[in-house]
Amino acid sequence: MMATEVPQAELEVDLTAITANWRDLAARHGAQVAGVVKADAYGLGAGPVARALAQAGCRHFFVAQFQEGLALREALGEGPMIAVLGGFPPGADPGAGLTPVLNGPADIAAWQAAPPCPAGTILHLDTGMERLGLTPAERAALPPGALDGLGLRYVMTHLACADEPGHPLNELQPRRFAEAASAFPGTARSLANSAGLFHGAAMASDLARPGCALYGINPTPGRPNPMRQVMRLTVPVLQVRQVAAGTSVGYGASWVAKRDSRIATIAAGYADGYLRALSSRGVGIFAGRPVPLVGRVSMDLITLDVTDIPDLRAGDRVEMIGPGQTPDDVAALAGTIGYEVLTSLGARYRRHYRPA
Ligand SMILES: *Cc1c(COP(=O)(O)O)cnc(C)c1O
Repeated sequence: MMATEVPQAELEVDLTAITANWRDLAARHGAQVAGVVKADAYGLGAGPVARALAQAGCRHFFVAQFQEGLALREALGEGPMIAVLGGFPPGADPGAGLTPVLNGPADIAAWQAAPPCPAGTILHLDTGMERLGLTPAERAALPPGALDGLGLRYVMTHLACADEPGHPLNELQPRRFAEAASAFPGTARSLANSAGLFHGAAMASDLARPGCALYGINPTPGRPNPMRQVMRLTVPVLQVRQVAAGTSVGYGASWVAKRDSRIATIAAGYADGYLRALSSRGVGIFAGRPVPLVGRVSMDLITLDVTDIPDLRAGDRVEMIGPGQTPDDVAALAGTIGYEVLTSLGARYRRHYRPA
């Protein structure tokens, strides 16, 4: 006997749109373009996303952490470069063929003291971020031949303000990078993130590293979004009830009905990464119409005012993030950035992938 299907919040991920975004960026760059799939491909699922990108021709992947690299190698099999931005010590990789990013003199020394890394290494040169990477002084102090035998594949740097056109660092960083990279003649260079790809030739390199633009976040804030939307979160309505004017709804009684109202309760909450900051600010979309969130976002439930949507019933689905209301839109309401909206997407959502 078939079990009855229980309604559950569903995250649809359109792999066709993600690979189309990657192809657009590759055409725009004219050189190699990697896929940054750290943090589970910004919450959308590193395995399926990276497999689709690899099929589309992507040969270089970046993750943040070592264990993400191991999982990604499982998903991709041998072949593509998988670079670990946070690096890892020699001896950690049991044969997955991961490429460590060397972020400072201590990393260089550790890898020099060990057998060569079969998957090569990437050297991170800091040009203005002050998180990881060799400072100009550390780079200048490297003894001649310090990188010999390390299988250096790329030198890279990371842009701090590429999403703010006109920021002085956008001129400074590529210049500092060119200068630092000239100490490694013949080594390929990796510079732009998503936003950097929209600065033209000044930020071109041998390998761009876009993440957010692949996932539909606007890499050109303040201008129209050139990327396709790739995800849709729909949440089922558990119950609809009539609430008399003057009645409060939810924790803290923070919202009080000004008129006789219909309240729909849907099956997701902050435990699913629907940010609590969206309390009384968020909006759902039902059949093309906006549905205001009222009261506090609870751990597992959200309440919506559906008084003006008389055709909405229990069992219907409301889009909470998606083409009608993008991660950037939701972020603006929550006072954050689209990256945080995506990387917060919860583990309880049923993920459904539209194949590439
Ligand atoms: C996250 C990250 C990227 C991708 O940045 P987006 O803004 O998402 O394109 C590229 N390079 C490094 C070093 C990163 O940490």
